[in-house]
Amino acid sequence: MTPTTETFEFQAETARLLSIVINSLYTTKDIFLRELISNASDALDRLRFERVTNPEIVPDDHVNEIRIEPNAKARTLTIHDTGIGMTREEVILNLGTIAQSGTRELLQKAVDNGDREVLSSLIGQFGVGFYSVFMVADKVSVITRKAGEEGGTFWESVGEGRFDVSVAKPKRCGTSITLHLKPVDEEAGVHDYADCHILERIVKRYSDFINYPVVCPVEREEYERDDDGNIKPDTKPTTVIEDRTLNAMKPIWTRPQSEVNDEEYADFYRHIAHDWTAPLKTVVLRAEGRIEYRALLFIPSNPPLDLGMGTPTWGLQLYAKSVMITESCEDVLPPWLRFVRGVVDSAELPLNISRETLQQDRHITHIRRFLTSRILKTLDKMKAGEAEEYLKFWTSFGPVLKEGFTGGPEYSEQLQSLLLFKSSADPETLTSLTEYVSRMKPSQDAIYYLTGDSRAVIENSPHLEAFKARKYEVLYLDDPVDELLVQFLTVYDEKPLKSAAKGAAELGDAEEREEARKGLEEKAEGLKDLMEAIKKHLDEHVKEVRLSSRLTTSPACLVGGEYDMSPQLERLLRHTRQQAPRSKRILELNGEHEVITKLAAHFDADHDDPAVADAADLLFGYSLLAEGSELPNPARFTGLLAKLMVGGL
Ligand code: ADP
Ligand code: MG
Repeated sequence: MTPTTETFEFQAETARLLSIVINSLYTTKDIFLRELISNASDALDRLRFERVTNPEIVPDDHVNEIRIEPNAKARTLTIHDTGIGMTREEVILNLGTIAQSGTRELLQKAVDNGDREVLSSLIGQFGVGFYSVFMVADKVSVITRKAGEEGGTFWESVGEGRFDVSVAKPKRCGTSITLHLKPVDEEAGVHDYADCHILERIVKRYSDFINYPVVCPVEREEYERDDDGNIKPDTKPTTVIEDRTLNAMKPIWTRPQSEVNDEEYADFYRHIAHDWTAPLKTVVLRAEGRIEYRALLFIPSNPPLDLGMGTPTWGLQLYAKSVMITESCEDVLPPWLRFVRGVVDSAELPLNISRETLQQDRHITHIRRFLTSRILKTLDKMKAGEAEEYLKFWTSFGPVLKEGFTGGPEYSEQLQSLLLFKSSADPETLTSLTEYVSRMKPSQDAIYYLTGDSRAVIENSPHLEAFKARKYEVLYLDDPVDELLVQFLTVYDEKPLKSAAKGAAELGDAEEREEARKGLEEKAEGLKDLMEAIKKHLDEHVKEVRLSSRLTTSPACLVGGEYDMSPQLERLLRHTRQQAPRSKRILELNGEHEVITKLAAHFDADHDDPAVADAADLLFGYSLLAEGSELPNPARFTGLLAKLMVGGL
């Protein structure tokens, strides 16, 4: 049977990305080898996992190794692994597609806008490692056979937007990738990748920690020896080829921290996280005593695209005595630390531990507690000592960290000190709760916040008028998860957290409050009938109409009862659940405002003046819009507005 060759086009964006990768993103061409060895190591890991449940998939004498074979004469370099291999479909998909369907549009947009920065952060998350081969090769051939399958696949591309696929017949499972090397160009950073010594240097530099032997055949001159074993230097040496393992194979987390430099840690991070960029923070942990284990943890520089609630895979690599037992163990971290990547290696865990027993294992519970509090401690230190880095962290992962409050009080104290908020104190910087408390006015006995969709909406909300007048600072909570946060974080430093849009706004010292209350009561007496009429008209929407102590310039606003849900939280719940209560709000009127005094005059002259009902609807709509809520009946509101304009013009 003659193998038929099929030609495929790379997806358009793949081809474009390819040229970006080749031409600019990588700073050094040498790293193509790191990417190929990383993939080979992944493939060997996958095979090992497969063998646990399916030992027959490879013969008993199967050797796990990565072999790099330079051929100086042919100017080729082959990287061969005895890993899981790929089926024909997988070859086409993995080596011809970059983004998964959901992320493709994002990528497309970044490419269209020529947004290099976005692009480079996106690229890191798609795995384009393989494509880096085109920096040093003008043709690449792949022969691969999936473990457990009969035939194999041949793939070849010259990197110009097309690749050919045909049938191959390798003897064993695994993958061989042959690069047809570009001419050496030292100036452009293309070294001689057919030279063993250069390859050895690159492997040591980038892939020393790889857990499988990276073997390279090296030539050695052998001289004849006499019977005593002495070399006979006068005879012609013969050339023998022997395999040399280039990497130390020592797990990086078992090496003393003082002997590992930042770059080595970063290379390891890139390998396990499939990230393009260096980690923001590296945390090396070692626990001794009752339970012994080591951990090497990383906080990434950029959030992955799928960081949201339903992150598909997260967790740490779990090793028992330096043998990997799970690729992503979720049980060693709480879900709100799902952005942390890394490795945990325990001497205590049995090698054959299953997913189910893992969850109940007391070592695991112990490890989770320890790692959690150490990560929080690291963040705390970062916040105190490396403000800029912490801000970067907070921007990327703050919203996820806030979810931690919902998991119970265990870490809430540590979490509280990590929080940063926007605030009325300063439009530029974020504030911590401690800083807020230090700025509180002497008469102030609560920490005030307002939730809303954006800084602009919150900042201009009528709810803040009295707070502004008294120069009380208000935290601006504009992250959707903040609504949940304030359900759990109700007290800080013995001071209650209060919404500026709930309950009665009682500001100032005891005397001032008493005075304000009296003033309001008197005023309310005169407006009692009007307020009752408005309440009757708006009965469907509001549960109470009262005079406000929080307004200075606006005529009205809507507030919630002390324990009511905020409209933002209701909206949030409606997004996640079908049934969320829609609670009635309180309409507060500003008794000093001209709109209200004039309205009262109309009402007093004629209780049935239709202008009163119109005004009630307008005030209600006005209050909704001011807080960023939707109008129940926009047509009625705009109609009234037009009528009002005609009257005014
Ligand atoms: P990433 O490794 O980040 O996924 P790459 O571009 O390096 O991205 O590789 C793309 C995919 O191709 C891998 O996820 C893997 O499925 C497949 N692949 C690459 N090299 C190999 C290999 N040596 N053996 C098996 N599969 C491989
Ligand atoms: Mg890769």
